[in-house]
Amino acid sequence: MPIFEFECRSCGHAFEQLVLPGRPETAEKPSCPACQATNTERTLSICAISSESTRQSALQKARKRNQSVVVEKEREEFKEMVEHANEHH
Ligand SMILES: [Zn+2]
Repeated sequence: MPIFEFECRSCGHAFEQLVLPGRPETAEKPSCPACQATNTERTLSICAISSESTRQSALQKARKRNQSVVVEKEREEFKEMVEHANEHH
């Protein structure tokens, strides 16, 4: 789970926020633990963010590729099944 650094614009308090999966708002506007303001700004370097998102999209691509391989394999098996069925009739 990624941890992002934030800075509160209301009181200047800097804090780290664990970004929860399925809770994108925790990555965007977490409330300040010092003053509860949601006027917070992420201070993590752009470099770190882009490498993280690049890794994420690479992961998703790999996942997609694996899925299509599985679909292709199932299709092949189905074709064989149909061909076998036709042979018997
Ligand atoms: Zn604050």
